[in-house]
Amino acid sequence: MFATIFAFRPGHRAMEMRRYLHRFFHLLPTMASMRAVQRTRFNQYESIVKPVTAWLSGLGVNMQTGSRVSDIVFAPSQGEITATGLVLERGGASEEVKIGGGDLVFFTNGSLVDGSARGSMNTPPEPITAERDGGFALWQSIARTRNGFGSPETFTADVTTSGWISFTITVRDLALMQKLEVLSGRKAGRGGLMTLTASNWLVTLAPLHHPHFIGQPEDVSVIWGYGLFPEKAGSFVNKPMTRCTGAELLEEILRHLGLDDDLHRVLGNSTCIPCFMPYAGSIFMPRQHGDRPAPVPRGSTNFAFIGQYCELPDDVVFTVEYSVRSGRTAAAALLGFKPPPPVYKGEHDPATVVATLKALSS
Ligand SMILES: Cc1cc2nc3c(=O)[nH]c(=O)nc-3n(C[C@H](O)[C@H](O)[C@H](O)COP(=O)(O)OP(=O)(O)OC[C@H]3O[C@@H](n4cnc5c(N)ncnc54)[C@H](O)[C@@H]3O)c2cc1C
Repeated sequence: MFATIFAFRPGHRAMEMRRYLHRFFHLLPTMASMRAVQRTRFNQYESIVKPVTAWLSGLGVNMQTGSRVSDIVFAPSQGEITATGLVLERGGASEEVKIGGGDLVFFTNGSLVDGSARGSMNTPPEPITAERDGGFALWQSIARTRNGFGSPETFTADVTTSGWISFTITVRDLALMQKLEVLSGRKAGRGGLMTLTASNWLVTLAPLHHPHFIGQPEDVSVIWGYGLFPEKAGSFVNKPMTRCTGAELLEEILRHLGLDDDLHRVLGNSTCIPCFMPYAGSIFMPRQHGDRPAPVPRGSTNFAFIGQYCELPDDVVFTVEYSVRSGRTAAAALLGFKPPPPVYKGEHDPATVVATLKALSS
């Protein structure tokens, strides 16, 4: 019933899967438990974003939320790339923020969660949000003006193949968590991802350790999950995952787990929120050399691309680590710092090769 299946599906780029196998070769022996994966104590917002934001604010960093950059103005030169202004949309007004000498611009060109739409226990998510949040739209507009800025359409053209439904289940009922612990043989949050291999949607569940949120009540558990084939009809609920309410999605999962007798009680004690993310798998779409721009494009004096859609040789997208590495790489190149250490290659370490071969043959 269970396996650990990551986020690739037919139509995604096989070379990306190959990069993954090389990148995480050293983790294959612990794949089932994901013991070697670093986890934050609480969810990433409370464990990383809040403290880092507080630290930056203390240093005087001016963070503008509720704003959207709709254009980046460049000096009119084809040889050199120098950003001179950011067009900012805020509260219905538009203003240009000048980029002075010594200022640097780091642009996250696209996001896995761009255009995401949430549903509820009783409503499905919006079928597709045509309005993009900003990253792809801005990337598209500046990519038209320059060579070397990549090709955003490569990643946004096919939302059927790139879209996921992700969901969270908040549950005040022991039956569901106990069942997952019995089936996996591990306490919640101590195991790997659990994929319901018989599910038409290819649902993967990740029961989270308790407490996942600061102040989470003792009797409340949280599960995160996703489906890779949301356009298909479910195995029990006869409609595509994209059109299901949270209650229907949870029903499908409970039936796969054989919890038919507990169905109504668990549904009554749970809140399942589906979220359609049209571009979650876009990073894995087939691409050509040059579709992802270099972090610092040739000729740039003050402008860099960071995040999941710039090119870092050897590393694999989706991870937070990739985005962090891109930022470090870009900052190092523009400011003359030491670049980040190279990506670790476990396949060059004989002890790791032996451990991996043992794991694969057991
Ligand atoms: C459901 C889910 C689970 C995941 N689980 C894991 C995991 O377990 N481990 C892991 O390593 N990674 C995981 N990831 C991936 C990880 O979250 C992302 O790779 C990472 O957050 C990317 O960071 P980023 O800063 O590059 O981009 P983002 O986090 O997408 O941030 C980009 C930001 O820029 C803003 N922005 C873009 N354009 C504009 C504009 N024009 N104007 C204003 N603002 C703009 C966006 O609104 C957004 O806030 C997961 C992702 C998802 C969706």
